[in-house]
Amino acid sequence: MKNKMFKYDFLIVGGGLIGALTAYALYKKKFKVLVIDKKNEISKDKRTLAVNANSKRFLEQLNIWNDLKSKPQPIEKIIIKDYINLSPLLFNNKNEPMGSVILNKELHEIVKKKLKDLNIIRSGINISLNDLKPSKLLKINNSHYLFKKIIVSIGKSININPYQKSIIFNKGHHSYVGFFKHENDHKNIAYEIFQKEGPMAVLPSPSLTRRKSTFIYSTNKKTSDQKIFSIIKKNFKISHGRLTFDRLINIFPITPHIKKFDKDLIFIGDSLRSIHPVAGQGWNLGIKDIQTLCKLTEQYSLDSKIFNSIYYSKRILESTLYLGFTSILNTVYENQNLFSKNIIRVGFEGLRNFKFVRELFIKQAMGKINLVD
Ligand SMILES: Cc1cc2nc3c(=O)[nH]c(=O)nc-3n(C[C@H](O)[C@H](O)[C@H](O)COP(=O)(O)OP(=O)(O)OC[C@H]3O[C@@H](n4cnc5c(N)ncnc54)[C@H](O)[C@@H]3O)c2cc1C
Repeated sequence: MKNKMFKYDFLIVGGGLIGALTAYALYKKKFKVLVIDKKNEISKDKRTLAVNANSKRFLEQLNIWNDLKSKPQPIEKIIIKDYINLSPLLFNNKNEPMGSVILNKELHEIVKKKLKDLNIIRSGINISLNDLKPSKLLKINNSHYLFKKIIVSIGKSININPYQKSIIFNKGHHSYVGFFKHENDHKNIAYEIFQKEGPMAVLPSPSLTRRKSTFIYSTNKKTSDQKIFSIIKKNFKISHGRLTFDRLINIFPITPHIKKFDKDLIFIGDSLRSIHPVAGQGWNLGIKDIQTLCKLTEQYSLDSKIFNSIYYSKRILESTLYLGFTSILNTVYENQNLFSKNIIRVGFEGLRNFKFVRELFIKQAMGKINLVD
């Protein structure tokens, strides 16, 4: 038993929201998969996820969506306001909601339980990414393993070596995330409000009463709980009625980055690219990484030498566009000079007046545009 060697198709390093779902999707496609995560404890992530229509369908196909018991809240309308344009932009989609809001922790626990029941996840294992190479003997918990493909899904922890091959964008931003209850129904409306200090998103939060919302406020300026509460009160007192804030606000550093091509390792989710949460699309892009990877396994053998480069070529364009778009959006709002203000005005007018631009915006928000098939 001591010298036994285990042969697997995939090793997935990192069992966060994307790594765990990648493992489950590949397992469903009959691959032999092992996930390792450095953490032992259960996820304490108090955030919500705005799941777009494409990602919802992905979770349905894996029979996970119906396991969510905390009442996902559909997003039926999006309102975008700012400090430059007088009237807001309104978006809705006739046939189906543009997205749904779920709890990160609940989804993560469901998927991790499935992996544990299948005995394909090992926790508390921290291996150096520098030692990882496909088809090289690897020692994990005193056993030897051989993997055809290695997927890295360690999120955006940038202190480790492979990130030195990343291109990092505007650092210094933090997101402040919390919840509040309100007197009035939220009517399944999501809001994005561009303040001078940074964007504030308010989303309906899973609850039975439709009287709970979550906020994500991102800024590179010094702020305080009171300042955040007053922004929300100013913008939502009329529509949402009396507001009661949860005392706990969680803070997340924002480090937008994109990974350069790696011939040995397949980077996925936030490890491949992480974007500013202003668009609420980081995890949704990770789902598209998984979908691309799964499709590639139908078209190419895992032994194919071009497998990794095809994967990167299919994910690089969309990743770069989202990273560029979200970074530029923040920069033009932060600059507050005449040139930036004019760009924003033109953008608002385009979205307000041209139906095809509006439809494009809605389609991309729903994850329904495939730039490279
Ligand atoms: C405030 C905020 C709000 C957001 N809202 C949305 C939203 O509404 N919609 C959306 O689509 N996206 C959203 N996002 C983005 C989304 O949260 C991320 O894209 C997503 O969580 C990334 O998942 P991941 O699995 O790639 O990384 P993570 O969730 O960070 O998982 C990484 C995992 O790897 C493990 N790990 C790390 N290092 C190692 C190692 N060396 N060895 C082994 N394991 C390791 C960690 O323990 C962890 O379990 C938001 C982001 C922020 C900051």
